Amino acid sequence: MRMQRSLIYDISGEELKNVVVELGESSFRADQILDGVYIKRARAFSEIMNIPKGLRIKLDERFIVDPLTVKDISSSTDGTQKILFELQDDHHIESVVIPERDDRYTLCLSTQAGCMLDCAFCATGKLKFGRNLQAAEIIAQLIDSERITGKKITNIVYMGMGEPLLNYEETIKSLNILTEGKTKLIGKKRITLSTVGVLPEMVRFRNDNPGVKLALSLHATTDEQRQKIIPIARKYKLRDLLDELELFYKKFRDPITFEYILFNDFNDSDEDVKRLSKICRAFPSKVNIIPYHQSNIKTGSIDLKSTRKMEIERFSNKLRSSGTNVFVRDSSGLDINAACGQLALSVQNNDT
Ligand code: SF4
Repeated sequence: MRMQRSLIYDISGEELKNVVVELGESSFRADQILDGVYIKRARAFSEIMNIPKGLRIKLDERFIVDPLTVKDISSSTDGTQKILFELQDDHHIESVVIPERDDRYTLCLSTQAGCMLDCAFCATGKLKFGRNLQAAEIIAQLIDSERITGKKITNIVYMGMGEPLLNYEETIKSLNILTEGKTKLIGKKRITLSTVGVLPEMVRFRNDNPGVKLALSLHATTDEQRQKIIPIARKYKLRDLLDELELFYKKFRDPITFEYILFNDFNDSDEDVKRLSKICRAFPSKVNIIPYHQSNIKTGSIDLKSTRKMEIERFSNKLRSSGTNVFVRDSSGLDINAACGQLALSVQNNDT
């Protein structure tokens, strides 16, 4: 009977050296395997021809190279592509590839199958929580997205399905492997981890961060407002989150990003502009304004609506004139429901 196989992308360069020596080979073979898997993008050990056949067979007995199966790809007229993956235990996750200016591509990747936090505006929160992803399943989203789209991913945001800091160990492990020199996958400063504000894990992350940037899904400028759409905001107050972000900034000196989904008549008033610009003045930061993709997901007792384009411009211009760095995201992938979780939600609904 074949033993339960581990995932090769879960293993750091150093750990791989130990495995290779355990298998009776010289440690330099580890570099050849890393080169085969990460640089040449082998999808099976049999494709790595510069290592002995015996080692290829032993590796194949112990490890799986790619743990993801592509189930669906949707392409938007604006170039955004959403990929639905199936995990080996039949859970589903999504990754979204978003074209930016100058031939750059941002990958929005998932860290959990489903999410426990149930934010009012989010399709993922409506999914039953499945499980935390392993680091390998996070890393494979980058490798597979590049293979499927044929594009070089230049930036990654940990902002897809799930709250990355609630899958703490595997998120940190994936960041370390993605950015370690030997995999040559992506530079640290090209990665942003986005949290909805899990304070104790943010403190931990300040200590363990391999050097990536941090974003807070802010979406509202008072505790009262935030608590209406982000249940975990009842536990962690905005003042404490902002104090922690300031400490993070002082340690890494990278501007903090505030994600701000604009909802009509909820968080788009002149008072919101004032409070938001005050928040942004405390330390170097920028605001990403994200148009809300109104969909047929149930938003609980609160009725969340999209803000019209003109209003988005008015809000952003006011914020800009207060001296805040503002970036307005296009409605990427509006026609393919690219708000994360929507495709997986429809699969889960079909399965139940
Ligand atoms: S917004 Fe993020 S934290 Fe909130 S439910 Fe969705 S995936 Fe979870």
